[in-house]
Amino acid sequence: MAMALIVHGGAGEIPDAAVAPHREGARRAAQIGWKILREGGCALDAVQAAIVAMEDDSAFDAGFGSYLNRDGQVEMDASIMDGRTLDAGAVAGVQRVQNPIVLARRVMESEHTFLIARGAERFAEESGITLVDPARMRAPAQIAIWHECLVHPPAPQRAQFVPPRGGGTVGCVAVDRNGNLAAGTSTGGTKFKRAGRVGDSPLIGCGVYADNALGGASATGWGEAITRVVLSKFAVDALAHARDPREVARAAIEHLARRVGGVGGIILADRLGRVGFSFNTPRMALAYIVEGMDEVSANC
Ligand code: ASP
Repeated sequence: MAMALIVHGGAGEIPDAAVAPHREGARRAAQIGWKILREGGCALDAVQAAIVAMEDDSAFDAGFGSYLNRDGQVEMDASIMDGRTLDAGAVAGVQRVQNPIVLARRVMESEHTFLIARGAERFAEESGITLVDPARMRAPAQIAIWHECLVHPPAPQRAQFVPPRGGGTVGCVAVDRNGNLAAGTSTGGTKFKRAGRVGDSPLIGCGVYADNALGGASATGWGEAITRVVLSKFAVDALAHARDPREVARAAIEHLARRVGGVGGIILADRLGRVGFSFNTPRMALAYIVEGMDEVSANC
């Protein structure tokens, strides 16, 4: 089977100064995931490892580096899906977990699919994940942005994905050598969001979807709009009849824009090991590698 791996580091107006950190962070994450696939690892492990790398990189709006909410706290969301079984796991509103994608995977492996806030953190502890002081998740650059927001509150949600915008949600889709697909997404949500606000990222079918029979997707952008069109499931379903993922990604973003005025981006991989992406924002951080390529191609 043809292996493939694609990651994104968010769609929006990524300022010039942030382009290189986004591109290189996405490249590193893709290299980490690809190494796992090449050594015979499974798609789920590759997706998790690539996302952990971006969660730990403060260039991205996920894990350490997440935007702060109006109360000055991080509230992180993540999801992961196994295309083999359609098992899925998600968490939302967690503040004391260094790598929300790892917790989402544990949820997937439990009897549940979605845990939120304190209950998710209690489950993390029970499953052996050490909780961190929430203050440790507040990256200095994000504290500065939060102070600025107190003085000049940011534009409503949609406008945050057009200039100027900093961070970037992260996501990954992978196909392993056994033809198994997995996808994951992790985010700190939107800048200065209301406490308790949850976007598309942890919602199965919206910010993430994977089905071995078709392909996998991870979305980013204005979460309220992505949720309303259930974008990732829409795109994965459109991969039927071996349609080219590049064309499907374009059609999905056109649908997002046409139907609900949405802005954002999507990455896709299909069961044949082909990848595609599309975005209608000024920039999107991306990196991918498929069989036959010597090295990761990264862009922003
Ligand atoms: N979709 C994410 C959310 O709305 C944000 C992003 O992708 O940048 O929470």
